[in-house]
Amino acid sequence: MTSKKNNRVTKTAAPSRGRFVNTGNGPTFQAIDIGHRDYAAVIDPDTAFWSLVARKKLADVMLDGDLPRAYAKKADQFAREMDSLRFGLTPSAVYFNPTERCNMNCTYCYIPAEMRREGKHMPEKKLLKALEILKQYFRTTMPKGEKPQIIFHGAEPLLNRYAVFAGIEEYGNDFLFGIQTNATLLDDAAVEFLTSRNVSIGISLDAPTARIANRTRKNWDGRGTFKPVLAAMRRLNGYDGWSVICTVTDANLQHLTRLVDFFHDQEVPMCLMNILRCTLPPSRSLKPGDAKAAKHFLAALDRTYELYRETGRRLPVGNFANILLAIIAPAARRLMCDISPCGGGRCFFALASNGDMFPCSEFIGLDRFRAGNLFKDDVPAVIGSEQFRMVTERKVENIEPCRRCAIRHFCGSPCPAEAHEMNGGMDKTGAFCEFYEEQVRYAFRVIADGKVDAYLWDGWDKGIKDTFNF
Ligand code: SF4
Ligand code: SF4
Repeated sequence: MTSKKNNRVTKTAAPSRGRFVNTGNGPTFQAIDIGHRDYAAVIDPDTAFWSLVARKKLADVMLDGDLPRAYAKKADQFAREMDSLRFGLTPSAVYFNPTERCNMNCTYCYIPAEMRREGKHMPEKKLLKALEILKQYFRTTMPKGEKPQIIFHGAEPLLNRYAVFAGIEEYGNDFLFGIQTNATLLDDAAVEFLTSRNVSIGISLDAPTARIANRTRKNWDGRGTFKPVLAAMRRLNGYDGWSVICTVTDANLQHLTRLVDFFHDQEVPMCLMNILRCTLPPSRSLKPGDAKAAKHFLAALDRTYELYRETGRRLPVGNFANILLAIIAPAARRLMCDISPCGGGRCFFALASNGDMFPCSEFIGLDRFRAGNLFKDDVPAVIGSEQFRMVTERKVENIEPCRRCAIRHFCGSPCPAEAHEMNGGMDKTGAFCEFYEEQVRYAFRVIADGKVDAYLWDGWDKGIKDTFNF
């Protein structure tokens, strides 16, 4: 006797042999319009198995063509991969805040203003101790030879630069280090130190001109960051390990296409265009509508493609590249916001400058999610805490309408912090849905048109077993 788990026929009590699509133990196929002239996508939402099918032949292929046979061959592999990505990973990275302070007062920051203005640095001695504790913890969880990642993160880590640099110097052999900075303090000496130690550097810039960029990213006196950021970009030119993060808001949406030109001109190796997180009320004042956000974001992606055609040089947009990978090679994903449960508390966690631990940086400032302290508590116990489990157990299957959505494993229904703070619970959606729908539809069009290479980085497929050949 058999029953259905993840749409695969497994031994249980139901007597169906799984001969028919969409009934009994048969595969569940949902057809979606991807906005392509010739193709539609057919997806088994539970396993994220998919195929592009000629629109005219959709019914034939889906119901009694090759698709059920292809599914029967591949479903277990897809399901295994999805299970291990969703439930089999353990933390391998820490977002480490070495200070509460920031020299900036960006409109959408998730760290409360008081903390950023008057907060404390983590003293050097404590920072080194924290790295030692983390080193010992990861020794027990990670395969030998693999290095965990430490990303020094905001507020502004370079305000506590001597402690940060001491940590990188002392533990350079134990961790892969990265730093996310507003770039205003990224002077020649800092660039020399970080690049000579292969530290990956992420800087923030939201627009191609001072007038627009300075609307949301400014210091406490209201002066913008455009000029010093541009100077830092010039210093970083030629280094492989840097990227720029742009936060997409209502204030810069219309300028994303020009921003792509600007980044490409500056030879930025990779950028991220992350839609605003609406966790805290001040950021919600900059929330764009989904349709408008999608229109401008997709136009910016189009522009990266045109520039690649014109110059032969790519500008991968990391967050979109991650969605493409989620479809064509799920295990190669690098970012963990678009999978459910998301990476917060499961693939990484965040450390505040006093040692407090949170499932993700997005929760720093939300006392409810403080789960323990690195200097006082046992790390595995914190990871198993109720505060972490609220995030790590948030699944698309429990969220309406995501539980019925064909692309739920390419979107992941982000973000739990937004869902909890803005919409009232972990079983709610976050701030955007249509925006994510449009991104996934675009990704399928890219695949249908054979343009995948143009949107990813050189050598993206090295060492990757693709799970699907179109
Ligand atoms: S979805 Fe939100 S909580 Fe999860 S990893 Fe992304 S930012 Fe963090
Ligand atoms: S947020 Fe929207 S697109 Fe994402 S899984 Fe939920 S219903 Fe689907």
